[in-house]
Amino acid sequence: MTDDTPETPTTLLDRAQQHATNIAAEYFPDLPVKATEWEVQHCERFTAPKWWLVCKGCGGRSARYRRSKTVRNPEQYCCSECGGSFRVEDDSH
Ligand SMILES: [Zn+2]
Repeated sequence: MTDDTPETPTTLLDRAQQHATNIAAEYFPDLPVKATEWEVQHCERFTAPKWWLVCKGCGGRSARYRRSKTVRNPEQYCCSECGGSFRVEDDSH
């Protein structure tokens, strides 16, 4: 009767797998909105950029992962290549 013994390696492995499944379900739900929020807060390095700053002058693109000052007020910044102004492309949907 080893099924109820928590110290067996098999049970611990099952628990670990269940734990991993729970984490995956929590952090990667089917709902895209929640997944997006989590990615932005905790995992931005591994996600596609949500915004692009696009230079009106030379067309240079700069990725932005957060709704930063640059995204909110692109007119306050200018392109380091040509000095042109930026427009913001929303790539979140
Ligand atoms: Zn430019």
